[in-house]
Amino acid sequence: MRAPFVTSLASLLVAATGAAGGAADGHGTRNVILFVGDGMSVATVTAARIFEGQQRGETGEENYLAFEEFEHVALVKTYNTDMQVPDSAGTMTALVTGVKTRAGVLSIGPDAERGVCGGEETHVETIAEQAEAAGFKTGIISTARFTHATPAALYAHSADRNWEATTPDEACADIARQFVEFTPGDGIDVAFSGGRAMFLPNAVNDPEYTFRNGQRIDGRNLIDEWLSAHSDRHFVFDQAGFDQMPASGQLLGLFEPSHMQWEADRSGDPGGEPSLAEMTKRAIEHLRNDQGFFLMVESGRIDHAHHAGNAHRALVDTVAYADAVGAAVEATDPAETLIVVTADHSHTMTIAGYPGRGNPILGYVAAGGETQKDVAGNVYTTLSYANGPGATDAATAAREKLSPDDVDYIQDAAVPMFVETHGGDDVAAYAHGIGAEGIRGVMDQNEIYDVLANALFGGSN
Ligand SMILES: [Zn+2]
Repeated sequence: MRAPFVTSLASLLVAATGAAGGAADGHGTRNVILFVGDGMSVATVTAARIFEGQQRGETGEENYLAFEEFEHVALVKTYNTDMQVPDSAGTMTALVTGVKTRAGVLSIGPDAERGVCGGEETHVETIAEQAEAAGFKTGIISTARFTHATPAALYAHSADRNWEATTPDEACADIARQFVEFTPGDGIDVAFSGGRAMFLPNAVNDPEYTFRNGQRIDGRNLIDEWLSAHSDRHFVFDQAGFDQMPASGQLLGLFEPSHMQWEADRSGDPGGEPSLAEMTKRAIEHLRNDQGFFLMVESGRIDHAHHAGNAHRALVDTVAYADAVGAAVEATDPAETLIVVTADHSHTMTIAGYPGRGNPILGYVAAGGETQKDVAGNVYTTLSYANGPGATDAATAAREKLSPDDVDYIQDAAVPMFVETHGGDDVAAYAHGIGAEGIRGVMDQNEIYDVLANALFGGSN
């Protein structure tokens, strides 16, 4: 039985919009923070937990990541309406609209076809649109491009996730344009991520990386358009700008032409860029108000490291993600805030062999001081993938020159593929704060939306 979300969302929205503010409607302040670890499978969480503990010199298995302290946990079914193993566009649509849909589409319903420009009737409302319309402040953070599937599903409706800066049909606006033309409320209040090139014309050199051009063939400079559409808007693109952002107005920080750096590589970035925890902390300070806010924080590149068969960067990014959750817990009051931490889909990394307690999680399988061997007499690592580049000859040759804990090490894989695939197994969801008890049992991914919406718009606390 799944009873607590029977109140229709429409009536909750009327209640929220009808009041002058959270404090005035007797419900108090309500904040909802959704954390999405892109591709953060349960195996990724386990390995990152051990990795974090071992970084502190402990055996690791006993460690808890910040969100593993949360009291409410569920398993989440991630399939898309047309796919057994899903993609990030369909899964994020489920999380933020309550509607499970096809792979590859952003916040449009399952009846519309991918790649075919449909009308507004195909759109499904997102929690960010609803929050803006109801007077809440809103924020979106991602280490991926801002127009990448996970952040884009909150502000754009697109028949194809790849329409980041262009579309094949002028009746449909590209994803970057939809951010600038976002109409509910006064627009998204805080946006921190990568992906600046999608907002700049192709004839213009990128301000930070002068050798790189923008991606817009329509010649529009959407950053200038965004800035001039309202009076109190501020754009930054590097660490120095981030550190000097004003305390009021709306903030747009696009820290890379494409994706932001993996945490393992961040200190080498010439312009400098903030960590996920720093962005999360800054966003919460900025969004805090009497009525409340909705904030989504994505660690977008756990997924990219897994696709490359590179467990090291995936684990470092997962630890950085847990740090961001810890920063959010510290900066908010659970009596007025719901924090849900989940993943959009799984990956194929496994933790296997019989390594002894405290064996380095990125190392070769060893127990009792003995390194173990496969049938051919070769050593093997605890972490491996079901498929991906690790099974190719190139990766096998590269592996021989590297220690398994090297940041560039590509783990072994069973099925050779240039890009490792997503996994179809369930992911976990962890919740803390108001309405957190709604995260329980085995849930369909779109039901998480009900928990978020109920905490933000409905009920009393
Ligand atoms: Zn992916």
